[in-house]
Amino acid sequence: ATPTALMVGTGRGAKMGILIKNGEVLEDVNDVKTVVFDKTGTITKGKPEVTDIVGNNEQVLKIASALEESSEHPLATAILEKAKQSKVEKSAVNNFQAIEGKGVSATINGQNAFVGNDKLLHDVDITKDMKYQMIKLQNEAKTVVFVGLNDQIIGLIAIQDAPKETSKEAIATLKARGLRTVMLTGDNKRVAQAIAQEVGIDDVIADVLPGDKADHVEALQKSGKVAFVGDGINDAPALTMADVGIAMGSGTDIAIESGGIVLMKNDLRDVAKALELSRKTFNRIK
Ligand code: ADP
Ligand code: MG
Repeated sequence: ATPTALMVGTGRGAKMGILIKNGEVLEDVNDVKTVVFDKTGTITKGKPEVTDIVGNNEQVLKIASALEESSEHPLATAILEKAKQSKVEKSAVNNFQAIEGKGVSATINGQNAFVGNDKLLHDVDITKDMKYQMIKLQNEAKTVVFVGLNDQIIGLIAIQDAPKETSKEAIATLKARGLRTVMLTGDNKRVAQAIAQEVGIDDVIADVLPGDKADHVEALQKSGKVAFVGDGINDAPALTMADVGIAMGSGTDIAIESGGIVLMKNDLRDVAKALELSRKTFNRIK
C-alpha cells in the first residue's frame, strides 16, 4: 500500500470539497451496486415552505404553530414561518410531546391537540373531502400534516420542499454508470414517489420510521455493496451501516461524524465524483 497515493487522493478531494475522512471506505467503493438517498435535505433543499392550508386557516395555523414551537423538525420551521408571516397569535401549550417519525402533540386550553401524519390518527375520522384534498396535495409532491383538536381533524397543512437544482443530473450520472438508485424516507409514499419521479430515482422505500433506516440499508446489502447519502440525525445509523457512508456538509454533526466521506458543497453531483476519486485512489494504493 502506498500512503502517498492516499494523501494525493484525499488532497485532490479536499480541493473539490469532497472530504475523505478515512482510507477504509476506499476499499468498498469499487463494488458499490446501490446508492441510497435520504430525501429531505439530501435530494431536496431542506427548506420546506407551507403552500396550502385546508380548513379555517387562522385556527389551523394558531394550533399548529403553538405545537411546533417546541419542535426542531424542518416541517415545524416551515409552519412557524407561515404563522409569523400571517401574524397569527400562538396559544399556550402544556405536556408537549414529540412522537418520532409521526408528529407532535400537546394540551391547549385543556384540549388534546396534535400535528402530524396519518400514523398519529387512531380513532379520528377523516372526511371524504379531507382525504381527497390530502391525496391531491401529496400527488403534487407536498408533505401533508393533519392538525387535530379533541379527536377531530380541523385542517391540513401542505408543505413543499423542492429538489436541489442539480439532483436530477446527479442521479442520471449514477444510473449511467450502472448503479441502482433508491430513496429511503420517513415521508409518505405518494410524496416520495412524486419527488423520485422528478429526479429520476429508480426505487422508493417510504414511511420508514427513523430507527428503521439502517435495517433497510442492511436488507439492500444482500444484493451488493451499498453507499448511503444523508444529512439528518436519523440518518446516522444508516451512514454507519452502509459500506460507504456519504454525509452532506450541511448535515447535523452526528451525520457528519458517521460518514466516511463528507460533501462540503451539498451537491449530489459530488457523489459520482467522490466514488470516482475513491476508485482511482484505491487502485493506485493497491
Ligand atoms: P424524513 O426526515 O425522512 O423526511 P422524519 O422521520 O423526520 O422523516 O418524519 C417523517 C414524517 O413524520 C414527516 O413527513 C411528518 O409527516 C411527520 N412529522 C415528524 N415530525 C413532525 C413535526 N414536528 N410536525 C409535523 N409532522 C411531523
Ligand atoms: Mg434529511
